[in-house]
Amino acid sequence: MSYKAEYIWVDGQVPTAKLRSKGKVVPDGEEPPIWGFDGSSTNQAPGENSDCVLKPVFICPDPIRGGNNTLVLCEVLLTDMSPHPTNTRAGCAASAEKYAELDMWFGIEQEYTFFDGLKPLGWPDNGFPAPQGGYYCGVGSDEVFGRPIVEAHLDACLQAGLAIAGINGEVMPGQWEFQIGAIPAPAVADHLWVARWLLYRIGEQFNVSATLDPKPVRGDWNGAGAHTNFSTVQMRGNYDACVAAAEALGTRAELHIANYGDRIEERLTGKHETCSYKEFRYGVSDRGASVRIPWQVARDGKGYVEDRRPNANCDPYTVTRLILDTVCAAATSSMA
Ligand code: ADP
Ligand code: MN
Ligand code: MN
Ligand code: MN
Repeated sequence: MSYKAEYIWVDGQVPTAKLRSKGKVVPDGEEPPIWGFDGSSTNQAPGENSDCVLKPVFICPDPIRGGNNTLVLCEVLLTDMSPHPTNTRAGCAASAEKYAELDMWFGIEQEYTFFDGLKPLGWPDNGFPAPQGGYYCGVGSDEVFGRPIVEAHLDACLQAGLAIAGINGEVMPGQWEFQIGAIPAPAVADHLWVARWLLYRIGEQFNVSATLDPKPVRGDWNGAGAHTNFSTVQMRGNYDACVAAAEALGTRAELHIANYGDRIEERLTGKHETCSYKEFRYGVSDRGASVRIPWQVARDGKGYVEDRRPNANCDPYTVTRLILDTVCAAATSSMA
């Protein structure tokens, strides 16, 4: 007998890469092997030299097909087995390795929006729903749109063994969030990419699409982010290390903003629980800051901080690499 392995990878679309997948039948008892694809169809290679390599990096049970079938997240390599230019995982893994001593953990809050054709799920055909205010963590069919899909997605993530931490309805109707972590990089990003794939895949069964668009509706409606919570071993034991991490992020704010997702300036306006992309501020309990120190962390004198800037459409390999580089470089230089 054989089993089905769905190979999943991140493509080369610009400005925002997207997920691709294809299925392979693998003989029972064998690991999913290195495989390949046509890079000229994914913006990863020219037609005359089109072969790209798929190397499995994270394998989990496939909750869609069930049985002993698997999902196989891959990184993309060139045919000489070096990382493809679009492979952001390699740099993330290298930074995590470099700063392994600091044992950084990440918890990423992935916001997203369901669409039914051209409009957010549950929105009227003409005009707008009632203004924001009652929808966040709401209940009832006048406020909540898409819960059966959210529940199916949560079950699927659990069956796949992903480190999913929770779900909630968001401020804009039709918008939702799930959280992955807290676990180290690059695993947190591996799990997040697979959770995104499962969201799209389960959406197929409901005829609903999910989008990571950072500002799906213009005007007085919340955008969608990917708040990235993180801690080092020092931060988990000491409040000054939490403040130092927030300070360190302030020293490289422009670099982070430029790599936190396309169209970030549409979302980080200074309204709708954001700080303007032109500013950098941190504060305790402050949801209008770039970086928030949760109140329990201030009370306990230790814990983690939340980088509120990443867009929903960010690449979590890139976001976690930058946080590792910025925060750990500052932490190790102050130890020296
Ligand atoms: P919010 O109040 O911002 O909506 P959430 O509950 O949605 O917060 O998400 C918080 C995330 O922070 C979770 O994924 C959680 O696992 C993560 N987290 C908790 N403690 C830590 C820690 N010490 N280091 C990193 N992440 C953490
Ligand atoms: Mn949240
Ligand atoms: Mn949220
Ligand atoms: Mn948050």
